[in-house]
Amino acid sequence: MANKPFPVPNSTTSFWRSGDLHDLDSYQSEVFPSQVDVVIVGAGYAGASLAHHLLEKQRKLDSKLSIAILEAREACSGATGRNGGHLKPDPYSRAGSALRTHDKKAAEEVVSFEFQHLKAIGDLVKRENIDCDFVLTRATDVCLYDKARDEIKAKLDSLTTAGISAVDDVFYSSERTAEAVSGVKGARGAFSCTSAHLYPYKLISHLLAKAVAEGVNLQTHTPVTSVSSQPDSEGLWTIETPRGRIEAKNVIHGSNGYTSALLPEFQDKIVPVRGICSRIFTPDARPPLLSNAYILRFSDWEYDYLIPRTDGSIVVGGARRDYHHDLNSWFGSHDDSSLIESASEYFDGYMQRHFHGWEESGAKTDHVWTGIMGYTSDGYPFVGEVPRKPGQYICAGFNGHGMPQAFLSARAVAAMVVEGRKPEETDLPMLYRSSHERLDSEKQHVSLTGYDAFMSDRQARI
Ligand SMILES: Cc1cc2nc3c(=O)[nH]c(=O)nc-3n(C[C@H](O)[C@H](O)[C@H](O)COP(=O)(O)OP(=O)(O)OC[C@H]3O[C@@H](n4cnc5c(N)ncnc54)[C@H](O)[C@@H]3O)c2cc1C
Repeated sequence: MANKPFPVPNSTTSFWRSGDLHDLDSYQSEVFPSQVDVVIVGAGYAGASLAHHLLEKQRKLDSKLSIAILEAREACSGATGRNGGHLKPDPYSRAGSALRTHDKKAAEEVVSFEFQHLKAIGDLVKRENIDCDFVLTRATDVCLYDKARDEIKAKLDSLTTAGISAVDDVFYSSERTAEAVSGVKGARGAFSCTSAHLYPYKLISHLLAKAVAEGVNLQTHTPVTSVSSQPDSEGLWTIETPRGRIEAKNVIHGSNGYTSALLPEFQDKIVPVRGICSRIFTPDARPPLLSNAYILRFSDWEYDYLIPRTDGSIVVGGARRDYHHDLNSWFGSHDDSSLIESASEYFDGYMQRHFHGWEESGAKTDHVWTGIMGYTSDGYPFVGEVPRKPGQYICAGFNGHGMPQAFLSARAVAAMVVEGRKPEETDLPMLYRSSHERLDSEKQHVSLTGYDAFMSDRQARI
């Protein structure tokens, strides 16, 4: 158990979790069930979305499955409670890769699925009046070096030529205008697209509270220590926890970077990766206006992401410049109880360094934390039935980019569980489907391939 990536105690405190915590944060439903129809492992964005969609689907069918959510720590204490809060579809990188490695259909699917999240989450927030600081805006992706600008532009052009509709949303600013358009010092090009930002902890707490009100059994502080490798003769899986054993017909793994602790076959397929994030505070109640969210690209391996908050503060994550070379500090690390030491001061003076008009703002870092992502070997999430384990499902491996992927992935899994649909009968992008081929692939993890290239480039420069 020691080397398995189970959530660790004493995680660093993110800004999102530093204020008033929700009543359900450490909630345990009164009865600890011994048997349910569905166990969801994890109460993050995936787990809460799974519960939401399972309930929606069964409401339509007038059926009633018993559901339990088992969460190792507090509700929304994983990546979702410690991320950048940026719901930004990626209109070019992944679609461009999908077009190159697959075809137009695959590219169209991945990019439009991500854009659908803007409307799906926006509609949900409006319909249920969720107090989660949701803001629909544009994200400006700023290139501070020419190669990134040229590569993104080339991808954009190839997607436009291929007729991928979602790229219509992207607007390109050349070297001539990028710095004025973005307000970022030294910008060499910029791309903007529709995006959103929000307070993830509040969204997830709302979904969990609604699920509990509708009868879902929520057990926080209840790590699942194992799931049987075979179902019993009645098709039930045995789920072990320190608080008791549960039998379930269906188990859905919404455990993201921690998945391989319970599903060892995913050990090289969904690898825990540690990231670092911060909140920058300004003493002035009205700091220079940032109306957009941002990505800042400094090199092929270095980029930061940033959202402005309605209270005038900024949430910024990234900082790879300071730690990417040290593979063990991030790749394979599931320890969010400590900072990545070499990057802990990266965010100090960030706004002053990069944004025009912020030099005298007095902006300073007041929170720095880490979180664990699930990086997949081919860059796409694993969604659907776990190969060779009928009745076990996975909705995990969202890399550093879960906000525009997990909610509707969970809807597809709910359709498989409640309506008995096959993955191809849902709107799940085919590249996301959990399959034997992907699980058995011997290709090197994309992050390691990228790291090798980074190291040889670094050596060449020394
Ligand atoms: C620093 C950082 C910044 C990020 N910024 C962004 C961003 O701005 N935009 C974006 O789109 N994405 C971002 N991401 C990625 C995004 O947060 C994730 O993709 C997304 O939150 C994944 O949601 P999830 O529910 O799958 O995982 P998680 O939120 O990690 O939830 C998994 C849950 O499962 C629980 N669990 C695991 N194992 C067990 C077990 N054995 N028993 C019981 N419970 C278990 C964990 O405790 C956890 O609560 C960021 C991630 C990090 C770490």
